[in-house]
Amino acid sequence: MSPLRIIILALLCYILYRLLFSGKKKGKEFPRSASGKAAPPQDVLVEDPVCHTYVPQKQAIRAVKEGKAYYFCSEKCCQTFLADKGEKQ
Ligand SMILES: [Zn+2]
Repeated sequence: MSPLRIIILALLCYILYRLLFSGKKKGKEFPRSASGKAAPPQDVLVEDPVCHTYVPQKQAIRAVKEGKAYYFCSEKCCQTFLADKGEKQ
């Protein structure tokens, strides 16, 4: 038996092994989020109080004001919101 055949055989075994295992593992694989923390449930839409856009909670900019969490589509909206609140009070 030539060494090449052994390598090919090993490769085939490996592929078969991988196929069997990937068949069992049906879980969805999400790319690691920027924040390493445990993410809240996916596909939760939150409203931006500044421009009233709905953004996925995972992607939203979060700001806490007086113990309440607010979500924004962008850093700009977040700044606008915080500045606006400050002026009015
Ligand atoms: Zn916005």
